[in-house]
Amino acid sequence: MTYTGAKVEIETEHIPNGLENPEWPLLIAGPCSAESEEQLIDTAKKLKATKRVSIFRAGIWKPRTRPNSFEGIGVKGLPWMQQVKKETGLRIATEVANAEHVELALKYEVDLLWIGARTSANPFSVQEIADSLKGTDVSVLIKNPVNPDTELWIGALERISKAGIRKLGAIHRGFSSHEKSVFRNSPMWNIPIELKAACPQLPIICDPSHICGNTELIPFISQKALDMDVRGLMIEVHNNPQCAWSDAKQQLTPEKYGELIYGLLLRSVSPMQCDDQTALSKMREDIDLLDDEIIQKLSLRMKISNKIGQYKKENNVTILQMNRWNDIVKHRINMGKAMGLNEDFLKAYLNLIHQESINVQSTVMNDKPVKK
Ligand code: PEP
Ligand code: MN
Repeated sequence: MTYTGAKVEIETEHIPNGLENPEWPLLIAGPCSAESEEQLIDTAKKLKATKRVSIFRAGIWKPRTRPNSFEGIGVKGLPWMQQVKKETGLRIATEVANAEHVELALKYEVDLLWIGARTSANPFSVQEIADSLKGTDVSVLIKNPVNPDTELWIGALERISKAGIRKLGAIHRGFSSHEKSVFRNSPMWNIPIELKAACPQLPIICDPSHICGNTELIPFISQKALDMDVRGLMIEVHNNPQCAWSDAKQQLTPEKYGELIYGLLLRSVSPMQCDDQTALSKMREDIDLLDDEIIQKLSLRMKISNKIGQYKKENNVTILQMNRWNDIVKHRINMGKAMGLNEDFLKAYLNLIHQESINVQSTVMNDKPVKK
């Protein structure tokens, strides 16, 4: 990480949420990709019915990591977006990656443009977009670059700010990481916290869909993001997620989106507000981050136990390997004690993990859990 900690001056204006309560977060929802006019209009109408959508999103141009994936419907999807706006009254948003995209999106009255994670990592592309935005007052959100580099993210925001864009914000969508994780893109909360510290007035929106990569974890990341005082959420919603042309695993149905949003708690205390942060809330924030990591690691550990169970089943090996377990306990206890942890606590913790690991393996081997 290269961020120096210096304050950054970026002037911003509020992007209204258009909802019943102007204090609620900005809620951007819609499919990963525009596929057909019917898909967009059906999804948008169902979203509108939840009364909890500020702006309708759909990708028209899709920058994909590998070729031969669906690369977006292109310009022919823009009149469909305009039709969504006409039929639902929702504002519309799409991703832009170059000056031509900006020009076309503005021609079709797109209200909010976002710069994707692969584009915000490239200062040449961001500068080209910035130059094409001069003289407009469209809203712009900039996703974090794919790599965890706060300076690069700030640089992209500065370029767009210098072009005169005031309705400006950042989107936290997680980062590529070599570390194995339960997430598609690791949230690395310290990076948006750094951005918030550098630029407290800049709105940060969270994109739980691209962080999670699946639908199950979205409620947790959405709540966590609100607890960290983000100003909004961007969630992928499709009227028929199983058949989506991109990111099928992470898109919610409009019904599930409604359940998600109505289930979220909007808190008044905001740990990311750096100026009035008390020592206690800072320590609690550290504990929350560590607990999250511990649970993620436990989940990864049990996934490996599951694979070991499969291996043992195929090779006819017994579940309980006492020598291996005795070695683990001895080594972990010595290491934990050297780190100042209590021996009884370590023993109880390791026993619990071992028991659960045996349970997981035995489910795989026998299709039923062993009794404790
Ligand atoms: C998207 O929002 O559909 C997208 C491509 O996101 P990202 O740039 O975060 O990968
Ligand atoms: Mn997507």
